[in-house]
This record gives sequence, C-alpha cells and structure tokens, in this order.
Amino acid sequence: MKIFKFGGASVKDAESVKNVASILSLYKKEQLIVVVSAMGKMTNALEKVVHAYYNQDPELKTYIDEIRNFHFKIVDDLGFPENHPLRHELENCFVEIDWACEEPPSRGYGFSYDQIVSQGELMSTKIISAYLMNSDIANAWLDVRDVLQTDNTYREAKVNWELTEQLIKTRIPQLHASNNIIVTQGFIGGTSENFTTTLGREGSDYTAAIFSYCLDAKEMIVWKDVPGVLSADPRYSQDSVKLDQVSYHDAIELTYYGATVIHPKTIKPLENKHIPLRVCSFKSPKEKGTSVGNFQATKPLVPCFIYKPAQLLISISAKDFSFIAEASLHKIFGLFAELKIKINLMQNSAISFSVCVDNDPFKIPELLHELQKDFRVLYNEDLMLITVRHYYPSTIEQLIKGKKVLLEQRSRQTAQVVLKEIKS
Ligand code: ADP
Ligand code: ASP
Ligand code: MG
Repeated sequence: MKIFKFGGASVKDAESVKNVASILSLYKKEQLIVVVSAMGKMTNALEKVVHAYYNQDPELKTYIDEIRNFHFKIVDDLGFPENHPLRHELENCFVEIDWACEEPPSRGYGFSYDQIVSQGELMSTKIISAYLMNSDIANAWLDVRDVLQTDNTYREAKVNWELTEQLIKTRIPQLHASNNIIVTQGFIGGTSENFTTTLGREGSDYTAAIFSYCLDAKEMIVWKDVPGVLSADPRYSQDSVKLDQVSYHDAIELTYYGATVIHPKTIKPLENKHIPLRVCSFKSPKEKGTSVGNFQATKPLVPCFIYKPAQLLISISAKDFSFIAEASLHKIFGLFAELKIKINLMQNSAISFSVCVDNDPFKIPELLHELQKDFRVLYNEDLMLITVRHYYPSTIEQLIKGKKVLLEQRSRQTAQVVLKEIKS
C-alpha cells in the first residue's frame, strides 16, 4: 500500500484537479490512500473568516462568499451538472461555517478556528473524490475524523496514536476491500467528543505519515510544485540543485531548521518503521524526485540553505546587570513555552541572552511586554535567519559578504547566521 499526499498547490484550480486524476490513473491497480489539503490558499482564506468572526468584522460574509465562489467555480469548470449531489454536499460545509459563525465565541479562538478552517480539507476532498468518480477512478471518501483521533489542543492537536492506529487498521482494509483508492483529508482530526481539531499549519504531510506508520506503508509520496528536495528554497535562491537522496537524519535536521518543503513532524514516524518517502513533482510525475530514507549520506552532498525571513532578535539582560543564570533562564523559557513561541536560535553570554524568533504579530508584543517586567529587553526586527547544513567555511564567507551580521553560530555540520534583511 502507498500513501500519497497532494498539497494546496496541486489542487488550486480545475486544471490541477484534472492533473491529480491523471497521476492517480497511473496507479489505479495499487491500493492507495490519497491525503489531500485544502485547495490553493483556502486555509488562509478560512483563517480570515475566523478572524473576522472573532472581531465582529462586517466583512465576514464577503470573506465567506469569496470561499464559496472559489469552490463553486472549480466545480463548474470541472463540468459538474447543476443537480450533482456534490453541490449539495459543499452547501452543507457552508452551513457548518455559518453555524460556527453564529455561535457566541465562548469556547475559545482555537476551537472556532478548527471547526471553521477544517472545512477547507472537507470541501477539497469531496470535490476530488467526485471528480475521480466521474473520471472512472473508483474511490472511497473517508472522513479522517473517524479514524485520526486527537486530544483537544485546538490548532496543535496531539495524536492519540494507540486509538488512531487501531481505528485505521480496522477501517482501511474494510474500505480497500471494495475500492483501491481512498481519498481523505490532511491536517484535521477528531476528538472523543466528536469535535474537529487541526494538527498545525502545513500538517497534511504529517497526516500522510500517520497513515503510513499505522499501515506499514510500502512508500509515501508527497506531490509538490518542485522537482524534489532542493539544496535551497527556489523562492530565495536561483542556483539550487536537486538532492537525489536524503538521509532521514538530514531530512529531520533540514525540516527542523525550517525547510518548508516537508512538515517537520513527518519524518520521525516514517523513520521508525523504515518507510521510504519520495518528494515528487506533480508537474512531471514520471521523474524520480527525491528519495528520503535509510541512507548513509545525502547525495549530492552539497551545502543546503534554509531561509527564515521576518525574524526578530531579542537580547535579554538583567535590569541590575547581574548575570543571566539558571533562575532567570527558567523564567524566560517558561514564558516562551507558555506563549508557544519557538526559539529558532539562541546564544548566552554572562550578562545577556539572545534569541531569534519568528516575528509573530500576535505573540511577540505579549512576549516583549512580559519580559520587560523583569528584564532589560532590546530587539532588532526585519532580520533573516539563514541556516546552512553541510557548509564549508567559504560558503559562509560568501553568504555574509557585504551584509550586516547580528549573530552567528556554528557546529560541525550546521552554521546559522542572522542578517539584516534586504528589502526588495
Ligand atoms: P504543499 O503544496 O504540499 O503544501 P508546500 O508549498 O508546503 O507544498 O511545499 C513546497 C514548497 O516548499 C516549494 O514551492 C518551495 O518554495 C518550498 N521549499 C522550501 N524549501 C525547499 C527545498 N529545500 N526544496 C524544495 N522546495 C522547498
Ligand atoms: N491546508 C493546511 C494548511 O494550509 C494544511 C496543509 O496544507 O498541509 O496549512
Ligand atoms: Mg503546504
């Protein structure tokens, strides 16, 4: 059995949905689970709805209508007739959104977020499943919330592995008995009280890894808009090369430092069961892409660059110029944990502690406010954190030439620099 994952870019319009069908037609004889994300940028659009609902923004209805028009245009472009049941099913998703937006927001932002944003994946999979049927690709649509069980940490739900594995192992063979292809949603899960949760942004890769793990899949393939894992994100570097093979270890490190081509939680479940992962291009589906697996070394072994823009470098020191020692660090780390702020890089000296973090417009003001109560806090905005794995000293020299370096750190395999971002 193979697990496929199609992300937003691969289902962004009618043409892309047709392309997904043509890829799947190549695999009709195999047992597949096809995990699909919301279409195009619909998760962002749904986030806007949640925000508007919470802030009683009068534009709320306009935002919902934009999402409705987007999906129904794809349905029209795919040639579904006026009376096709798919249209009714999509209408039901909008009823769910309307209901969620009518309730007083008493259960918290995260709860509302998950009930609303999850509709993106439910709609995309309904459209894809129905289109595959119309194209003679028989398939079963699975509501992933029936098998992927989580706790109720809304927006960052933790998987109940034991229960999920048990449910997946029971349900999937039943569905596969009558259909080789099962279409289901990435990113979302369900709680024991039947509420919907989400696994964190970009979480569909992780969903595919969960299925792979629970079913001992032969292979997992993520279909992307790039030829494979490259030595740098093509949005930042024109001269990146494709990596033919990447060791699990390198893949974990690259994604941990922010290579967004694969969600960081994806690799570990695969590695634990030695399940190979392939990153393939949905634009050239017959090319080999990148294999991630139990390799001794990544090939070709070239420096890999990870760019993290919009960084904030915070320097924290004691108000009385005493040392930043264990007790202060305990307090500082406690705050980061409480506000769920991930530290991308940190450095400690006798009197100051520096951290580089994503400049999140909601979390950072609160963090600074809290820190300022006990510490002297200085910060720099608009920075770029560049991580280089498998670097040569000359790689770093070239990288920082003529740039203002605010922080630099090197280990044997990995170098990190924080630079003043050049705004174009
Ligand atoms: P999905 O459609 O599955 O959500 P993403 O957009 O999340 O896919 O991931 C693909 C994108 O990842 C590419 O378009 C590319 O800009 C970005 N990316 C970041 N780092 C890399 C890398 N090292 N190699 C390839 N792509 C990368
Ligand atoms: N649709 C979700 C997101 O955009 C999950 C995913 O695409 O992986 O974050
Ligand atoms: Mg993505």
